[in-house]
Amino acid sequence: MHIRNILHPTMSQVGKLFSMDRLISLSGRDIIFPFYHIVTDEIPIHAKHRYGIKSVKDFESDLEFLLKHFKALDLNDVLSLKRNKLSGKKPGFFLTFDDGLSEFYNVVAPILLRKGIPAACFINSAFVDNKQLFYRYKSSILIHHLKENKNLIHLIDKNTIAEKSHENIIKQILTIDYSERHVLEKIATSVDLDFNKYLETQKPYMDAVQISSLINQGFYFGAHSIDHPLYSKITLKEQIFQTETSLAWVKKQFNQNFSLFAFPFTDHGVSKSYFDHFSENKVVDLSFGSAGIKKEKIMGHYQRIPMEVPGNNAENILSSEYFYYLLKSFVGKNRIRRHD
Ligand SMILES: [Zn+2]
Repeated sequence: MHIRNILHPTMSQVGKLFSMDRLISLSGRDIIFPFYHIVTDEIPIHAKHRYGIKSVKDFESDLEFLLKHFKALDLNDVLSLKRNKLSGKKPGFFLTFDDGLSEFYNVVAPILLRKGIPAACFINSAFVDNKQLFYRYKSSILIHHLKENKNLIHLIDKNTIAEKSHENIIKQILTIDYSERHVLEKIATSVDLDFNKYLETQKPYMDAVQISSLINQGFYFGAHSIDHPLYSKITLKEQIFQTETSLAWVKKQFNQNFSLFAFPFTDHGVSKSYFDHFSENKVVDLSFGSAGIKKEKIMGHYQRIPMEVPGNNAENILSSEYFYYLLKSFVGKNRIRRHD
């Protein structure tokens, strides 16, 4: 678990000694970038073992809180911010959603349209149209399958996962990362689980027709890599390939005249050389990380606030983020540092 999630309950208690407006003015951080993945009352199996998912009611109250203290910004406002031309004194937020899940189309978009809140969605070129499944979702489906069918565990080949006890197998499956993702396929086959069938029947992702219709209704779409690797674990060459391929795909597929990119998982550990490459070739208009409220040196790159902290509403999360930011500013540690 991220250190920030552990600190949230304490930080938000202390942070709440100040009003939100006071925290905003003390910190000087008046433009924020909250982000989510899924909003739903029926948690899908693929996301079950992943993040803290907000219900429709909780999401709507997050939005109410945000709208009380901030103005909902449009993509053009954020592009003006990059050029230092954002006018207006009221604090603002720009909302984004990662992974291109069908709940954005079915649940989130209708709420945002009703409330008049603009948003951008970040999609993986390999997953749109339910062509493939994110390896982390595979592990979630696999765990669910093994919990439901405990008798299947003995079928798992000893060479793929050494642990035979139920608890250990589940723990091990959760730690399988991008470079070992083929192991998930192997285990699934041995326990008679078909991920393609899951994609066909459950349709976890939006398809191109749904995305085009959302674009016609004013939503923005950007890239989120090809197939969601953790960037710090792949080479610089692979990082650049993942970013450029997915950006080009989104742009061409959906005829967009801007390029937005959100790092899969996090931009933590991504080098200065990566950002230098993109600032030279100007392929990306705006990019986003997920390190909370932080100062960024890189033009057009913004850190977003993860809003899916289990058991926490927008007020808790933002109070804690702001308070944490203020604490760190006393010791000069709220700026992102990068290696070469
Ligand atoms: Zn993601």
